[in-house]
Order: sequence, then C-alpha cells, then structure tokens
Amino acid sequence: LPPLSEARTAPLRLERGAGPILVTGGAGFVGFHLSQRLASEGHQVVVLDDFNPYYSSQLKRDRATQLQGKYGSRIEIIDGDLCDGAALRSLFEKHRFSHAVNLAAQAGVRYSLQQPMAYVRANVKCFTELLEAVRLHPSTRLVYASSSSVYGSNKLSPFSERSRVDTPNSLYAATKKSNEAFALVYHQLYNISCAGLRFFTVYGPWGRPDMAYFSFAHRMVHGLPIQVYGHGKPRRDFTYIDDIVTGIVGAMALRTRRYEIFNLGNNEPVGLLDFIKTLEKELGVVAKLNYTDMAPGDVLSTHADVERARRLLGYKPTTSLNEGLRKFVAWFKSPLFKDEYATDGLWKSGKAWGRY
Ligand code: NAD
Repeated sequence: LPPLSEARTAPLRLERGAGPILVTGGAGFVGFHLSQRLASEGHQVVVLDDFNPYYSSQLKRDRATQLQGKYGSRIEIIDGDLCDGAALRSLFEKHRFSHAVNLAAQAGVRYSLQQPMAYVRANVKCFTELLEAVRLHPSTRLVYASSSSVYGSNKLSPFSERSRVDTPNSLYAATKKSNEAFALVYHQLYNISCAGLRFFTVYGPWGRPDMAYFSFAHRMVHGLPIQVYGHGKPRRDFTYIDDIVTGIVGAMALRTRRYEIFNLGNNEPVGLLDFIKTLEKELGVVAKLNYTDMAPGDVLSTHADVERARRLLGYKPTTSLNEGLRKFVAWFKSPLFKDEYATDGLWKSGKAWGRY
C-alpha cells in the first residue's frame, strides 16, 4: 500500500502560538486525508464530524481510528453536529482556531433530489453557523468546499472561475452556490478571511462509496452490471485526493483577506468509457455495461481551468488517472477494506435519516 498520504508541497507554516486547525467533516473522505496531512506536518487538528449514515458510518469511524492510531494526541475527534451553533461557538472560544476548513456537507447529486432538506440543513444551515463563529473570531481563516457542480449546464469548457454559475442542475449544486454567496456576504460585511474551493470529482483510497468509481469497482468485482449513464458520453475531470489536499493547504496558506474562489481540478477530463477501461485494467476484471440515459441532475461534462490556483496557490495536479486508480484499487483490495463500506448507507435507498 502507498503511504496514507504523500505530501508534495511545502508544509503549512503557522505563526508561533497559532491555535489548532478545525476540520469539519474530518471523518469524511477529503477531511480524513487533509487531517492526516496536517497532523503529519506537526499541526494540532480538531475534527468535527457527526458520523451520519448517508454512507457507511463504519467507514467514517475507521477513518477516525486510523487518524488517532497514527497521530494520537495531535488529533482530537469530536462526534458532534456542526449545526449546534452554541457548541461550535464554545469550541472556537476554547481553541482560537488559526484555520477552519469546512468539509462537512451533505454530498451527492442524486440524493439531493430525494432528500432536499438534508442539503438545506447540512450545507446551508450548518455552514451559516460556521460563518457566525468565524465572524466572532475574525482571526480564523475559513477555507470551505464548494463544487464543480456550481457550473451546472454551462457549456464553456474548461470552466474558469470567471465562467457563469447561474445554471445549477441540482439542489446539491444550488446549496454549494449558496455557500459562495453566503461567504461573500460575510466577507463584505464582516471582513472575514475566506476561500471557496470548487473541487472536481475527487477519488482515491478511503473514498466515498456513493461515487461512481467506488460503486463501479464494487459491482465489477462481484460480477454485477454497472449503469453507464448518458450512454457513456459524460466526461469528468477526475482529480486525485492528494492533489486536492495540496490545493487546500495552498489555500490555507494564502495570506490575503480578499474574497477568493479557486477551481481545484485535474484539467484533463476523461470520458466515462475510457474511465471504465482504466478501472477494468486496474481491477483485472471486465465490466458488464448497462447503457442508460443521463440521470436527472447530472451534467454532461466537467473540465477545470486551474490557472488561477496555479498562479496564486502553486497548485499543480500531478497524479494521472492510471496512477490514482491504481492507488484506489490497492486500498480496495487490501485487508483495510470492508465490504460493508460499499453495501451500507442511505444513499442506496434514498431514505431519510432523521434530524431535518
Ligand atoms: P464526505 O461525505 O465523505 O464528507 C463529509 C463529512 O461531513 C461526512 O463525514 C459527514 O459525516 C460530515 N457531516 C455531514 N453533516 C454534518 C454535520 N451536520 N455535522 C458534522 N459533520 C457532518 O464528502 P467528501 O467527498 O469528503 O466531500 C467534502 C466536501 O467537498 C463536501 O462539501 C463536498 O460537497 C465537497 N465536494 C466533494 C467532491 C468529491 O468528489 N468528493 C467534489 C466536489 C465537492
């Protein structure tokens, strides 16, 4: 197995006496990789996650166990709800965070058509609680996840940060777009320091079971057919997790109080059928394909222009799809992988899990 994460850029430097770093959604896919990168550089990290059952809670718990096993007291894990504003404000009082990285969210395009209130709660209400906490602690720099989905059915390719984002295709996309608008208002009114990052289809070890690469791999090794949406026409700018983490750290390090938005993608979109061929090669199995129409809410193509992130953050994705899928498959076939990661979770049934 490759090491859990491979740091490629300069480590994050914090001022002497700076507080710890808050990673919301730190037991999630991106948050887990970011937390270990930061802890491996010697930073104190506070993870806040509610371990909800949208996808396998066991996978989230196992990521947290990995973090604590490897970094011990450098990582504090809090099982809590980001929407609990009072608890969040006391956490900020206690820790005086140097940075808050918001990766907690209700992700997934399809589930947003089934459970819209889950998105309003996690992505709008909880995010606003975090903005409120940062307003009261303006020395904390906020870096938050947006998404390539904000470009919706924009036909321009590649998408640059100056491209129009007025055609969201799903409720998920609409909540991500609202995150950027809310952050702008807090920046303008209260001068908070913030950067929004539009991630493009992130994949890798310890990944998200509801995403195509993961569920395809699981179905393929069990000899089950996979749904080829849009009859194979969609293209995605698949971006390897370590490249994304490097971009997040770059945005954390940026010392500016301007309102910033960055694309973090791979600048190399791949067609769905080519993607499946690469996965077949890495898994050593042939996929059974079921061609079907586009799923509602999905977009045909994503392609990131990453020039702005390159210029201002030194961002340079370096992992090819072959190499990245090889690392994913190494984990997927390793003893660390549990079948329940792929089979459990409400994303499969579209059912609600309570609270909203
Ligand atoms: P993830 O679902 O693995 O991680 C999100 C984490 O947030 C989960 O562990 C979940 O338990 C936690 N969470 C949700 N609601 C919470 C709440 N109320 N309180 C505390 N914790 C809560 O998703 P991810 O792939 O790691 O994505 C991270 C961020 O990046 C999300 O904002 C997502 O929308 C965005 N994003 C991801 C991708 C991708 O391809 N993975 C692409 C674009 C944008």
